[in-house]
Amino acid sequence: MQKLLSYLGLEKQSKSVRDHFYATNMRASIYMSIVVIVLEIWMMIRMTRTLIVNDLMGNFSHYFEKYYINYILLLTAGIVMFIFSVRFLRGKTDKKAVGLFLLYAFSFICLYFGIKVSINDYAKGEQILTFLTMEIFVVCLLIWKPIVGFLIHSSAYIYFYIRINSMVAVNTGEVGTTVATQINLFTMWISTMMFIISNYNKTLSQAQKDENLEKMNSYLRRISVIDDLTGIHNMLYFRTEAEKILSMVTTDRRNTVFLFLDIENFKSYNEKYGFQAGNELLKTFAELLEKNFEGSLVSRFSDDHFVLLTTIEGCQETINRLSDEIRHLQGEVQLSLKCGAYRPEDSERDPSQACDRARFACNNIKKHFGKSFCMYDASLEQRFQQKQHIVNNIDSAIENGYIKVYYQPVMNTANGCICGLEALARWEDPEYGLLPPGAFIEILEEYRQIHKLDRCIIEQVCRDYRAAADEHEPFVPVSLNFSRLDFELCDIVGFLCEVSDKYRVPRNYLDIEITESALTDQQSFLQTAMKKLHDAGFKIWLDDFGSGYSSLNVLKDYQFDVMKIDMKFLSGFGVNDKTSTILQNIVGLTKQLSMVSLTEGVESPEQFDFLRDIGCDRAQGYLFSKPVPLSELREKIDSGELRVSPEFVPA
Ligand code: C2E
Ligand code: CA
Ligand code: CA
Repeated sequence: MQKLLSYLGLEKQSKSVRDHFYATNMRASIYMSIVVIVLEIWMMIRMTRTLIVNDLMGNFSHYFEKYYINYILLLTAGIVMFIFSVRFLRGKTDKKAVGLFLLYAFSFICLYFGIKVSINDYAKGEQILTFLTMEIFVVCLLIWKPIVGFLIHSSAYIYFYIRINSMVAVNTGEVGTTVATQINLFTMWISTMMFIISNYNKTLSQAQKDENLEKMNSYLRRISVIDDLTGIHNMLYFRTEAEKILSMVTTDRRNTVFLFLDIENFKSYNEKYGFQAGNELLKTFAELLEKNFEGSLVSRFSDDHFVLLTTIEGCQETINRLSDEIRHLQGEVQLSLKCGAYRPEDSERDPSQACDRARFACNNIKKHFGKSFCMYDASLEQRFQQKQHIVNNIDSAIENGYIKVYYQPVMNTANGCICGLEALARWEDPEYGLLPPGAFIEILEEYRQIHKLDRCIIEQVCRDYRAAADEHEPFVPVSLNFSRLDFELCDIVGFLCEVSDKYRVPRNYLDIEITESALTDQQSFLQTAMKKLHDAGFKIWLDDFGSGYSSLNVLKDYQFDVMKIDMKFLSGFGVNDKTSTILQNIVGLTKQLSMVSLTEGVESPEQFDFLRDIGCDRAQGYLFSKPVPLSELREKIDSGELRVSPEFVPA
């Protein structure tokens, strides 16, 4: 049934297929109407000339009725059709019903003209060619649905046949048509029908192909601007649209603001409830955003980060409201919303820069309990510029030797001598002066450049060792701080082996510190990397023990040689009674786990005495020395202020 309907052209067609047919017919109508216009003008000129030459102008009204009226009718139809189809294709009109009417009317007039002229010719004993010509003309140019074509053209043939069949044939003098004429007419009708069907099917399959292509294109267009997880727009769309908005003169910049949103603690939510639930939360939050910021540009930036371009009026209130709403979604994890806002400058055109600044403002209030909104201001701009400076100049800083290693001694509590050094990075910048790690480590981690710095520190430490060994100077094992990203961004273990071999540094002279917070989730790649480090002969220290939530899990899941007890424990010393009990127990724990204990942040002799008394193996802190350049450390040793543990002094 379906097949039959489709064969007749009666199946339901999609809008795009219908539009394709319509547009094709409109294009064809232009050629058709031009041919008709030229032809009819020429016919009228020719007719007039014949009348004048044969001196028949006196009988003009007779010829007018017989010929001119037909020419004028067809000419008018041609002109109207021409004007309409040109206007349609130029997009000046979209009145489809009018177009359809004109198309049918024009076709009927063409066919009528064919029939009329052919009957005239037939009456004169001539051929019936005009009818056939007009049939071919209409059929070739326009695409008819088979059933419609069948009805119209068959009617034309039948009507024509009936008309000439009742006329007296001039050549035979008999009424009706000859068998030859009948056969010719029938053959023509069959050909016409076949042509209609094949033309229709060809165009239909082309239209369907175009439709599929268009569907594919629109799908591609859609997925390229939609975030697949949340279904809201992605950053590609955001950047393009924001750029348009920023470049529009009508945009009220003073009222425009970029917002960067971050769901704080989302990671814990994911860990507690699983990725599926995390995804659902992001979806719900995205919907909330779209609802609350209707009419604004809302996109997912990445992970649990979203960006918006909206009006400043009332946006802080909306954020506060959202902040409340997110608490209904949080379950047992304390989620909170952080929002950074940035108002673009008058000349600003780059949405990426604006998002970066809004993000910077957002990061500024991270971990600030109770603060959910931060407007970017001049002081942030200064810090932002410094950040840009760091990201853009890390390579040249390494090349130019601006990255320096400062050493802080680690003391053996048993003899009060230096038994180790911690290598801590400093950036001596010509523009910003001496930068502490707090000013660049996190930024380099954020921009995934931290491995460059750490490799530079490894190389300098190894070089310092070799120089000291060559000079027969004392040298003690050095601990290096590694970022967890080092293991992702490069083969840091391979690099360490290579460089220590190059400078002939014994492997027990290099220790690796990994901070507790880097180890929150059990990551097999970290475990593998740490095993590689151990296998290569390096010791691994757990840095900042007790600073995070998962300290004890970390001890269970990973293998460490030294535990560095975070300095926050000592900060309560003498104020909080519990501090000493806790420290005592942690030190006891390290003994049970066969780890060496080291407490950092030792600032007073009392703290040191206490640590020694509870059996903490090592201590580090300002009491002995701040981190200093190697030359300064040497001076302290030479002056007798610090002593090196005897086992490290060359004989
Ligand atoms: P960290 O590894 O916990 O380093 C100890 C930090 O505490 C150092 O700060 C040190 O100067 C400071 N400190 C030492 N003793 C005391 C004390 O008695 N009292 C107080 N208040 N502070 C003390 P610094 O050098 O600013 O380093 C900060 C952090 O930057 C380091 O924390 C470490 O996580 C990171 N870092 C430093 N150098 C590097 C590096 O080369 N690579 C990587 N990835 N991170 C580094
Ligand atoms: Ca450290
Ligand atoms: Ca530490």
